[in-house]
Parts: sequence; structure tokens; C-alpha cells
Amino acid sequence: MSAAPTSPGAGRYAPSPSGDLHLGNLRTAILAWVLARRTGRAFHLRVEDLDRVREGSVPRQLEDLAALGLDWDGEVVRQSERGAAYEQAIARLEAQSLVFECYCTRREILEAPSAPHAPPGAYPGTCRNLSPATREQGRQRMRELRREPALRLRAEAPEWQVHDLWAGEVTGTVDDLVLRRGDGVVAYNLAVVVDDAAAGVDQVVRADDLLSSAPRQACLAHLLGLPEPGYAHVPLAVNSDGARLAKRDGAVTLRDRYAQGESVAEVVGRIGHSLGLADCRTAADVLERWDPATLPREPWTVQLPG
Ligand code: GLU
Repeated sequence: MSAAPTSPGAGRYAPSPSGDLHLGNLRTAILAWVLARRTGRAFHLRVEDLDRVREGSVPRQLEDLAALGLDWDGEVVRQSERGAAYEQAIARLEAQSLVFECYCTRREILEAPSAPHAPPGAYPGTCRNLSPATREQGRQRMRELRREPALRLRAEAPEWQVHDLWAGEVTGTVDDLVLRRGDGVVAYNLAVVVDDAAAGVDQVVRADDLLSSAPRQACLAHLLGLPEPGYAHVPLAVNSDGARLAKRDGAVTLRDRYAQGESVAEVVGRIGHSLGLADCRTAADVLERWDPATLPREPWTVQLPG
């Protein structure tokens, strides 16, 4: 949709099509686009439709992003069409003996005593080193439950460090994360790593609820022999109670704002205001005037009239 980038690398925005994008999503999308275009990168859109898809929400999201003034390069990628690439990545990890089958149910993981210092609900390593006989019992049990074993990463680096534009160096624990779930669906952490690398994405911009996932994703990229991207995690949008913004908070989507009599320029104006900029009307105004160093580091409290 736009001229070829002047330098290699790409940014992206990767919404889940679970409904219309709200103001916080739209703000993150604008910032992802601005950071990519500012640095001469390509900008890609990816639909993360492995899970929760609301009928009709993909075209609505794309229409809303275009209405803000965003453009993107190449075809929109859909994760539901990328199964072969994910299986190749799993095979590559398997070839390095970095994958094991896990027969645990969610409840068993929650109820198992966890390792000291592990976060609550962390995988306790139950199936990591089973004898062949116990493994066979696990497989038998899965057949009875009519489930596939989940596939997990045999994590070898307990900690990994990434660089975030605003948070700086961020270190996180890499656990035996799920690569493919028991229902056969590839896990988000694997899909995101494979897709970003395939699209040449070296700048990951998204909401900061995913900051803690960045070290495990970067480590996974490393284990797959893929380049590790840089990160820029944008603070979440919250309601007046400080809770994460949600549809139930009122007229929070672009179409809701239209129904309240606002124009897209006014909605971009709100987003610009949250960034300390007066009178922005399109994403191009943000591109021209916003200084990333000034991003407020606290959540954006969305206050709407009425
Ligand atoms: N699909 C995720 C979301 O909508 C974003 C994932 C990512 O950007 O890595 O929250």
C-alpha cells in the first residue's frame, strides 16, 4: 500500500479479532505505525486468529485502522493459514531435543506444588523427564481422554534478557512453555515468534501486558535460529477505576464514538492528547509531531463524556 521502506526491518500490529478495537488498541496501533514509519521500516498487519474469533471482526478492524490513516505493506497475514510454518518450527526444536510431551491437565498444574520462587501456576516440570514406561501411561491416558498431549519447550535458559524502548533491559524467566496445546492449537508464544521472523519484523510494538512474555519469546527465537527483535511496550488503556479498558466501559470503539457524534479526527485528537499533543487529526499528525521519549509511562486513563 505504500512506498518501499528505505531500510530493512519491519514493524507490525497484530490484533486478535475478538471484536472491535477500543481506544487503547487504536492508540497502540497508531504508535506501532508511527515507530515503524519514522525509522523507514515496513509495517505489517497480522490477524491473530488462532483463538477467539468474532465473526466479521477482521474487516471491521482493518477498516478502522485505515480510517485512522494507517497504511500497511503487503498482504494481511492470518495465523490460521500458517500451520505449516509452525509445525516446521516445532520440528526444528524437536531435532534439538527441546520438545517434550505433557500429559497434565490444567487442574493438575494448578494443584501441583511449584518450585521455590516460581510464580503461582507455573509449570512444575511434571512431564519433563519421564521414563519411557510412564510416558506410555501418559499417552494411554490421553487416548482415553481423547486429547493429544500438549507439547512443551524443554527450557534450557532459565532467564533471558530483551531490550524495550521504554522499559530498558528486561530480564525474565523462560519456563517450559506450551508450544502446541492439547487441543492441537499452536500456542501464541510460538506463533508470534515464527510470524514476526517470517515477516522480517525487528520492532515489536504492543501493549505492555505482554512485556513479561517478551523474554520467553526472544529466547524461543534464539533457539529457532531466528533474529531477536527489539521491543516497545505501550502502557495499557484503563477505565476511571484503573481497570483495563473493555467494551463494557461504554462507547470505547471507533464506531461507538461515531455513534456519539464524534468524527475520526476527534478520536485521533483524543489519542494525540493522551500523548501530550494538541490538535492531531490523523495518524500522520502523530507521525510528524510525536517524540517517543515523551510517552507517558503510566496507563492511559480513558475519560469519555457522558
Ligand atoms: N494479539 C495480541 C493482542 O491483541 C498481540 C500480540 C502481539 O502483539 O504480540 O493483544
